[in-house]
Amino acid sequence: MRDLFVLLGHPVSHSLSPTMYRAAFRSLGISAAYVALDVREFEPAWLAVRRLQVRGGNVTVPWKEAAAGALDEASERARRLGSANTFWRTSEDRIAGTETDGEGFLRAVEEDFGVPASGLRVAVLGAGGGGRAVAAALAAAGAPAIALWSRTRERTERLAAELRGEGYEGALAELESGAGGPRLPPGEGVDLLVNATSLGLRSGDPAPADPADFPGARFAMDLVYGREPSAFLRACAAAGAQTADGRAMLLHQGARAFELWFARPAPLDAMRAALAHALARPS
Ligand code: NAP
Repeated sequence: MRDLFVLLGHPVSHSLSPTMYRAAFRSLGISAAYVALDVREFEPAWLAVRRLQVRGGNVTVPWKEAAAGALDEASERARRLGSANTFWRTSEDRIAGTETDGEGFLRAVEEDFGVPASGLRVAVLGAGGGGRAVAAALAAAGAPAIALWSRTRERTERLAAELRGEGYEGALAELESGAGGPRLPPGEGVDLLVNATSLGLRSGDPAPADPADFPGARFAMDLVYGREPSAFLRACAAAGAQTADGRAMLLHQGARAFELWFARPAPLDAMRAALAHALARPS
């Protein structure tokens, strides 16, 4: 029987994870299936994962926190972030998991912009699973300054406290909201602006911030990926920034997940080509 891998999320119809992993399986001759499941209630879906002997998989919006809590063996990173995007079976009745978004983000910054994230002052917009993973990865990499913003202020406060608690020694700011979204205090600057809110998932979504409020930002990354650039990336490009969507992050977080499932290097070229092909197709 073929091994079964699943993606749990809502919505999932836009996700290119199945395309990416199926290409990986094909290129290495691995007999496995990868299926995206649109999950509106986490508990029954997780029970099905247990009962059906699913070998592993991924978790996306909005179930990463629920997944971290449901794992039998959560990595230290998943426990710290309270979020998991990757899981795998370790025995008949035990499931382990971790979070690979942060690592995927760091690799994507280097690939997309040709600079290590460890040297950048970064504003992270959004403090859900993705934003928390990005901020924690930046802090661990030693980025000199991190500015946080979230629609729900308590989430940013909690995240800032956690980063300080883990010994982050760079500059840490929590951004206030102005009329057009978050804004940097006068005299401050960032190099990279990151959209880690879910704005952009649906066409017609507005940008979470006005790049004019972040003068001097050279780079902008949207965690969302798609055939067309998001309103956020369009605005940042118009303001003169070099922009990238979330496809490289998807690739690298997925490659890390693949390595955890199979204990072998991921076929990056095949995965990248499958993503590029899917994203070049008219919708
Ligand atoms: P999440 O945990 O559900 O968090 C969503 C975040 O978006 C929260 O901070 C939420 O704020 C904020 N938000 C939602 N609607 C908003 C609005 N109208 N205005 C301002 N903020 C809003 O989701 P996630 O896992 O962090 O994912 C966020 C996005 O990143 C998704 O689009 C996801 O697909 C993408 N992502 C991509 C990759 C990749 O590999 N490329 C990896 C991870 C995530 P509140 O807390 O106030 O609700």
